[in-house]
This record gives sequence, C-alpha cells and structure tokens, in this order.
Amino acid sequence: MTRPFTFPGLTTRVVFGHGTLAQVPDEVARLGHTRALVLCTPHQQAEAQALADRLGTKAAGIFAGATMHTPTDVTDQAIAAFHAAKADCVVSLGGGSTTGLGKAIAVRTGTDQVVVPTTYAGSEMTDILGETASGEKTTRRDPAIRPEVVVYDVDLTLTLPLGLTVTSALNAIAHAMEGFYAPDRHPVTEALSRNAMVAFRDALPALAKDAQDKEARAKALYAAWGCSLTLGHVTMALHHKLAHVLGGSFGLPHAETHAVLLPHTTAYNEPAVGDLLKPIADTFGGTAGAGLWHFAKSVGAPLRLADLGFKETDLDRAAEIATKNPYANPRPVSRDGIRQLLQQAHDGHCPD
Ligand code: NAD
Repeated sequence: MTRPFTFPGLTTRVVFGHGTLAQVPDEVARLGHTRALVLCTPHQQAEAQALADRLGTKAAGIFAGATMHTPTDVTDQAIAAFHAAKADCVVSLGGGSTTGLGKAIAVRTGTDQVVVPTTYAGSEMTDILGETASGEKTTRRDPAIRPEVVVYDVDLTLTLPLGLTVTSALNAIAHAMEGFYAPDRHPVTEALSRNAMVAFRDALPALAKDAQDKEARAKALYAAWGCSLTLGHVTMALHHKLAHVLGGSFGLPHAETHAVLLPHTTAYNEPAVGDLLKPIADTFGGTAGAGLWHFAKSVGAPLRLADLGFKETDLDRAAEIATKNPYANPRPVSRDGIRQLLQQAHDGHCPD
C-alpha cells in the first residue's frame, strides 16, 4: 500500500545546464531587481568578477569575504557592504560557505537570493542556516532562509579539485541517505534521491579518471541537486548530528568529515530501518554501509577520522557530546554505540 505522505510543495526556481551563468542577469531581472551584490570566497573572486561583468549595470559590487561556518561578524560586514552599495538582492557564487553568507544576509534583511552553486554540498535548496558566533555554531530552519532561485552551471564545477569533488559528493549522498528513512520523507525526495545515488555512482569513477569530463560533471551536479532538495525538505538524524559535533567541537573539515562518517552512520542505522536503505545497497552493492565504504575507497575518499586530525583520546568526549541531548533517530542512540561507531570511523575499517 502507498504510504501516506505530506508534500510541502517546492518554492525554489531551478535553472540547470551548461553555460547557464549567462542567465543570471535575466533571473535577477525576473525577480524585479536591478542591483545585485555578488558574494564569493577570496578564492573565487575571478569567477565572481566575471559574473559581475555579465550583470553589467545590474551589479552593485562584489563582497569576497565568505568563509567556512558563516561567522556573524563577516555577515555584519557583508550587510554593511550590501547597504553601502544600495543593493536590492544577492547572488551567491560558490560552495556551501558562500551560500551560507547569502542566507544569513537574506534572513536579516529579507532580500532575495540567486545562488550559483559550485560544489555538491547542497545548501542551495534548503531552509537551513548554520552560523558561528563567539566560537559556537548554531543551526536553524526558517522559510525565509530558502533561496528564491538556483542556477546550476555545470561548467563552473570543472575547476572543483578532485579531492573536494569526491568528499563533496559523499556529503551530498549523506543527505539522501538520511532522507530515505526520514519520518517526513515523501515521493519527491525518494525519487530524486534514488536517481542521485545512481548518478553519483556513475559520475565519480569517471571524474576520478578525468575531472574535466563534462557529462560526468553534469550527472554529479544533477545528483547534488536531488540530494540538496532532500536535505531541504525532510528531517536529518544521527549522521548530520555527528558531523555537526565533529565540525563544531573538534574543528574537523566539513566535507571530509561527512565522507568518513557516511558508511559508519549508514551501517549503524541500517538494521533499524527495514528495507529503506535498499536503494543505496542496490546501487553500491553489498549492504548499504559496506557498499558505501567500498565505493568511497574506490574513488579515493578519506576513510579515517584519524587522517583528518581527530585524536583517539577525544573519542569519549565526542560520544558524550553527541549523546548529551536526545534527538530522533531510527536506532536508539546510546553513548556506547556512538563511541563504537566513532572508533570504527577513527580507524577507517569497513563497517561490516
Ligand atoms: P566551501 O563553500 O567552504 O568551499 C571550499 C573551498 O572550495 C572554497 O575556497 C571555495 O571557494 C572553493 N570552491 C568552491 N567551488 C569551487 C570550484 N568549482 N572550483 C574551485 N574551487 C571551488 O565548501 P562546501 O563543502 O561547499 O561548503 C561547506 C559549508 O557549507 C559548511 O559550512 C557547511 O556547514 C555548509 N553547508 C550548509 C548546508 C545547509 O543547508 N545550510 C548544506 C551543506 C553545507
């Protein structure tokens, strides 16, 4: 019997293709705006300048200060730049860090956002914002955070280094993985997540051989869209909680941490969810957890938290923090169970 569900509807307009950066000026105009502040990291200033050139008179300027974890003092600087430039919307060109800055500006000023994602992290389709103030990261959900328009230009992902390509894709797969057993999942996220698994499975080995393979890049970005949409429409559980703890309290890098944890969090929940993770097992072979571990290994992903700088002596503290406040998860979360999961992820063994 078809499971009952609630489909919340989709509010973000999506433009996908090669060379779609050329459409950003029309998308800004379509929203009724005439002065866009372009956001980027210092690393992607040249791409942001090229976009500002395309925007011509519709460009209000560039703010190139986006950085990891969306520190609120950077947001304050960006908002000052936004007002000084008399901007009436933002265009965020980059990965999750730049998208995060655009969201932080939007939720404070009510401005519209056009996002041009250049990684697979998947912040662009979500109503989620993580911010840091005084060294503490907090995350919230609010409809005002969700971008109005996302322009996916496959060509912009050709420069994504192979290491980040792989870890960013596994970061995206983690959204789909938790989406398969989310209590508020619905047929749209299920279908897109299934398609995304197959697309990533086919794209990543091809990109490991040739990072400039345009067809594989298109498949990977299409998959990232599906995973981002899933993240943005359902509730996440243990995997995202652990990634948040390791990033927030131990300073581990975002995409790499998701990549290492993914097979272990999948294996932890797999026995508790019936056949809900079967799309992953079917796609990658074996059980879902082991299948993901072997796939990650085959495409050169990091496999050990130890290699990301996580110390074995911190395992107890991490397990303590991760189990301090209760949260919904298909399998009960015990301190010992999480300690064991983290030990496996620390050592990098296949979870089977
Ligand atoms: P990132 O945005 O920090 O990018 C990493 C580096 O790669 C940056 O220097 C960036 O300029 C560079 N880069 C990005 N795209 C590139 C390209 N195509 N070619 C060359 N260099 C490129 O990394 P990320 O993994 O995309 O994002 C991580 C952040 O996003 C974290 O802070 C995370 O919490 C957040 N995030 C938020 C959500 C959400 O829904 N709120 C979802 C996923 C990630």
